[in-house]
Amino acid sequence: MATHITEECINCGACEPECPNEAISEGDEIYVIDPKLCTECVGFHDYEACQAVCPVECCLPDPELREDESTLIARAREIHKDKSFSDDFPSRFKK
Ligand code: SF4
Ligand code: SF4
Repeated sequence: MATHITEECINCGACEPECPNEAISEGDEIYVIDPKLCTECVGFHDYEACQAVCPVECCLPDPELREDESTLIARAREIHKDKSFSDDFPSRFKK
């Protein structure tokens, strides 16, 4: 699942700089995540970095966008072509 931000967002901005993929931006009413850039932090962390800093914990898996680990690490590799990811890359799926 890509992560999405729910309407509980209080627009604090804490999550935006934490995303390794620059997937988060300020939307019209609340912060938003571009699902084409979100990897659920696969490749970088074994947790969702946005949710880890969110004071209201509103960065949640999007039930409408279920994705498996192989899809997400492929996306990370596509976004970060200059970076090599070892086979034991960090992933919330491995916890
Ligand atoms: S889960 Fe990770 S990759 Fe997705 S928006 Fe949050 S910080 Fe960015
Ligand atoms: S950290 Fe949470 S409350 Fe703050 S902007 Fe991001 S989603 Fe909204």
